Parts: sequence; C-alpha cells; structure tokens
Amino acid sequence: MSEFNTSDFMNPMMTQTWSNGRHLVRCVKVIAETHDVTTFTFGMNQPVLFFFKPGQFVTLELDIDGERLMRSYTISSSPSIPYSFSITVKKVPGGKVSNWLHENLKSGDQIAVHGPVGQFNGMDFPAEKVLLLSGGVGITPVMSMARWWFDTDSDVDMVFAHSTRTPNDIIYARELEYMSTRVDNFKLHLICEHTEIGQAWGGYRGYLNLPMLGLIAPDFQEREVFCCGPQPYMSAVKAMLQEAGFDMDRYHEESFGETPVKDVERAEKHADEAEIEAQEPKELVEVRFMESGTSTAVELGINLNEAAAEAGINIAKACGVGICGACRVKVISGEYDMQQNGGITDEEIAQGYVLSCCTQVQGDIEIDY
Ligand SMILES: Cc1cc2nc3c(=O)[nH]c(=O)nc-3n(C[C@H](O)[C@H](O)[C@H](O)COP(=O)(O)OP(=O)(O)OC[C@H]3O[C@@H](n4cnc5c(N)ncnc54)[C@H](O)[C@@H]3O)c2cc1C
Repeated sequence: MSEFNTSDFMNPMMTQTWSNGRHLVRCVKVIAETHDVTTFTFGMNQPVLFFFKPGQFVTLELDIDGERLMRSYTISSSPSIPYSFSITVKKVPGGKVSNWLHENLKSGDQIAVHGPVGQFNGMDFPAEKVLLLSGGVGITPVMSMARWWFDTDSDVDMVFAHSTRTPNDIIYARELEYMSTRVDNFKLHLICEHTEIGQAWGGYRGYLNLPMLGLIAPDFQEREVFCCGPQPYMSAVKAMLQEAGFDMDRYHEESFGETPVKDVERAEKHADEAEIEAQEPKELVEVRFMESGTSTAVELGINLNEAAAEAGINIAKACGVGICGACRVKVISGEYDMQQNGGITDEEIAQGYVLSCCTQVQGDIEIDY
C-alpha cells in the first residue's frame, strides 16, 4: 500500500484520469459495513483520478474456480475523493461472486474492472431538489450522489429516505447521520421493516407509503426522484408515485438486474415451450462467429448470447438485461432486434455494436467474435 502514500502518487502533474474501458485495479481497503455488507476500495499502482458520474457502476471480471464471471457493482464512493473508488457488496445467499468477494478479496489483490458506465446518475438529470429513495443495498448509487453533493458544498436540496429490514442492516448509518448534522440541505429519513427484541428504534417502521412520504418530503412533487432497491420495492415506489400523480419524467430508477433464478426460470419456460412446439417446423438461421471461425444454425428469434453458447462460445455477460454492457459484441452484417436498457451508447450502436444478452437474431448474421 506504500505506493499510495508517496508524494509522487499525489502529484497532480503526474496523474492520469480513467475513462470507460478495462482496467486492472488493486484492492486497497476492505471495510465491514454491516453483518452481510462490505465495502471494497480500489486504486491503481500509478496515480489515476477515478472520475465518473455519481450513480454509475463498474463490472468486475473475475475467474472463480476456472469460470469467467462478470458482475456489475455501483461505485458507492464519490468522485470528490478521486484517487480511489469503492464498491459496496451485499452477500447474496448462494451467490457466486458476492460471497467470493466477501471471503477472498483482500487488500493488495488485483482484479479487472470494466467501466465506469451507467445512465442512472445525478449529473445527467440536474435538479435543485432531489428525493433519494433506496432499499437495502440499493443505497449505493444514491449514496454516491449524496456524497458528491455533500462534499462539493452543492446547494442541491436532498431528502434521503432509506428503507431496510432492521436497524442493524442500515448501511453507512454513521456517515448518513454525520452528513445530516453538518448541513441543512441533507434531510435523512430511515425506515425499518421491523426491529429485533430489545432493539431501540425511533425512526419510521414498516414499508414506505404515501402518508409516510407526505411526512418525509411534503414537497415531493417538486423533486427529481432517484430510486434504487429490490424489484418489489421499486415497483411499489413507482406505483405509489403514479397514484399520487407524480410527473414520471422526473422519476429515475436503477435495477440491479435479474438473478440467474430468472434466467433458469426463463430457460425452463423455453424448454416447456420447445416441447409443445417440437412438432412444428422451425425456421433456422445461421450465426457465424468470424474471429472464432465457428458457426451454428439456431432458431429464428433466439438471443445472441444463447446462440453463442450453442456454438460453444462464451460471451461473458453480467446483468443479463442490457444494463451493464458487459456482453457487447460487434455485428458485421445481418438482421437483429436489440431491446437494451441503457448499457450501450448511440455511437456504439451506430458502429454496429450490440449487447448480446438482449439481442434477438432475426436472420443470418455475422459477428466479429
Ligand atoms: C447496474 C448494477 C449495479 C449493481 N450494484 C450492486 C451494488 O452496488 N451492490 C451489490 O451488492 N450488488 C449490486 N448489483 C448486483 C450484482 O451485480 C450481483 O447480481 C449480486 O452481487 C449477486 O451476484 P452473485 O454472483 O453473488 O450471485 P449469483 O451467482 O448471480 O446468484 C444470484 C442468486 O441466484 C441463485 N442462483 C444462481 N444460480 C442458480 C441456478 N442455476 N439455479 C437456481 N438459482 C441460482 C443464487 O443462489 C443466488 O440467490 C448490481 C447489479 C447491476 C446490474
């Protein structure tokens, strides 16, 4: 860690900035936030300023037990502390990467990350008043935004309402309290589903609802809303705001993607459908992977990532729903239909790139892979 403390390292004249791409970074700090949430801080061996838009994420590329795995994690730190960046990871029961990180990643280890990217950020939707709504580990992008506005002495009026299971599950509890005691434009509200026996709790209880929101932010209709949390939480928040007649153009949300369970369910559904359709004639198209020199005939409409798997090619993917951009490939020619969720820029699309996880093959196609 010594290289991070030399005067050379901090010399702005010798400092580079990073941009979207693949970077080798070194873990410099591991911080236990709660019983199942840990923050990992990264730097580089040479001085680099990690600029990004608060709310954006990186995708980790890891080799675990011989398998290449990619998972996206929001940058939870703020670019106001630019010589390092952090991710905050919650352990998912049975999850490969989150548990591996908790059990293995330590200070000094080097890993590859892709990014930073992401359209859910506080800079692309400037507003004088914001309502930051988060559930569980969904706090990470809105915390990055809040840290940025707090550290830069911005006059953005922030209302921060975080929902969690119990008081012991509140991530960044002390820092949030500290921020709320230092400035007038950061109002903190914590909502706990329940408390454990003997546990003191003076905040809100239950789930966020409209009467509660009226107390938390009576002027919520005037605010830009940034929301991130588990899917049921975000669906409930969205329905609540719609019911209140909120202008949904000012509502922004980040989903942490589908779990492999959904992938498995989808695959099972496909299999069931395939059985029913087995008697019907299928239209086949050819998918050619030019760099690998491999091709395969697949059913019309199949997802390009699945087509690659059928050809024995692994195009690493992370979110599986067109958010993170990890599975980007270039189409040389052919027909396809991409339904992405912000993981690719208009320029990349114009250059022929697609996200293979959310691109359906619509005819014979040639891929630069
Ligand atoms: C843009 C973005 C930002 C994100 N930011 C964060 C963040 O800041 N912090 C954070 O903690 N997470 C974040 N995530 C989520 C993160 O990327 C991972 O999805 C999460 O850590 C789980 O990954 P895992 O490898 O541990 O679990 P996985 O191995 O992906 O498994 C997830 C679940 O599926 C189950 N499962 C796996 N395989 C199967 C199978 N074959 N059959 C049945 N069940 C199965 C597992 O048991 C587990 O419950 C973000 C995601 C996105 C897309």
